Amino acid sequence: MGINTAISWTDITWNIARGCHKVYDKHPTTGEKVSECEFCYMYRESLNGTRHNPELVSQTSVKSGGAFNLPLRLKEPAKVFTSSLTDFFHKDIDSFRLETFDIIRKTPHLTYQILTKRPGRIRLALELAYEQAMNQGSNNSGMLSLAYWLGEWLRGIPPANVWLGVSAGYQHTIDKRVPILLSVPANVHFVSIEPLLEKVDISKYLGAADGGLAWVIVGGESGNENGQYRYRPCQIEWILQVVDDCHKAGTSCWVKQLGTSLQKQYGFKARHATDPTEWPAYLQVQQFPL
Ligand code: SF4
Repeated sequence: MGINTAISWTDITWNIARGCHKVYDKHPTTGEKVSECEFCYMYRESLNGTRHNPELVSQTSVKSGGAFNLPLRLKEPAKVFTSSLTDFFHKDIDSFRLETFDIIRKTPHLTYQILTKRPGRIRLALELAYEQAMNQGSNNSGMLSLAYWLGEWLRGIPPANVWLGVSAGYQHTIDKRVPILLSVPANVHFVSIEPLLEKVDISKYLGAADGGLAWVIVGGESGNENGQYRYRPCQIEWILQVVDDCHKAGTSCWVKQLGTSLQKQYGFKARHATDPTEWPAYLQVQQFPL
């Protein structure tokens, strides 16, 4: 499970749990409740596959060979996306997130790309895990080492193998989530603007040297023409604006896909316009953080 991911900016997906709740915010212009999560991939998979209740957050298998322990079996350096079937900082993961931090600490050869729509819970989750590790550490030196690792992170010395990011596709969610993200220490701060749902200006958040974002992922939404799981419009100009802003700031950018709307509009062959060789040259940008 997880290996051979279709996500171009990572090597492996590590699913610590399955299940989540959609995050809604009021759009400042229309007043409507909107969500990037509207057509969440995990909800689709749940309906089409195993009939798992998408709102029931359950830990993946902890058996040896199970999905939860996947990183412990990876011997070569790799980028690991955590997770595609849940939100790493969902409150229902509080009871076993300590175990995930333990795995991350024990695998420094792997680079973890942790993405959330709940940045307000990151510091809380680190503090909770620190307390749990301290409580279990009286006769467990491994737990004490983990408590030290978490304590260092909270004191401003984050682990070298963790990239911390938020996902946001509207200006108001970018403005809400990115500053909170940037207030938590991280080796690399990043944003995934996918699906990109309106024209956005991220210029003031760019530039790792100034305490800003070191990496930006951008893309249009993928979806179906009919049925429950659709796609929303995206425009080439919106994507180009993000690429341009990154270029001006010297921030690495990764255009992941143009999405179904632009695939239809421009007649790209690859489903959801995922093949960069079909795109205009100025959008063929896929850089990792420096
Ligand atoms: S936060 Fe992510 S996993 Fe959770 S509902 Fe939204 S898109 Fe799906």
